Amino acid sequence: MSKLAKEKKPVRAHTFYYVDYEKKQIVLLKKKCPRCGRFMADHKVPVPRRSCGYCGYTEFLSKSEVAKAEK
Ligand SMILES: [Zn+2]
Repeated sequence: MSKLAKEKKPVRAHTFYYVDYEKKQIVLLKKKCPRCGRFMADHKVPVPRRSCGYCGYTEFLSKSEVAKAEK
């Protein structure tokens, strides 16, 4: 099977946060960079880590943190 035949991934642009209408607040799902305050990207390969695309800050995740993040 070619790569093009694979299923398309859903758009992830709005997965950074969700809005809780009952409590009237925005809940962030992604961690923010401690250095510059921007959203950080999750990577799993080759090692689980979070990295900031803007300033290059990278945080490596321990096994317990990985289990927590997958919930
Ligand atoms: Zn940053």
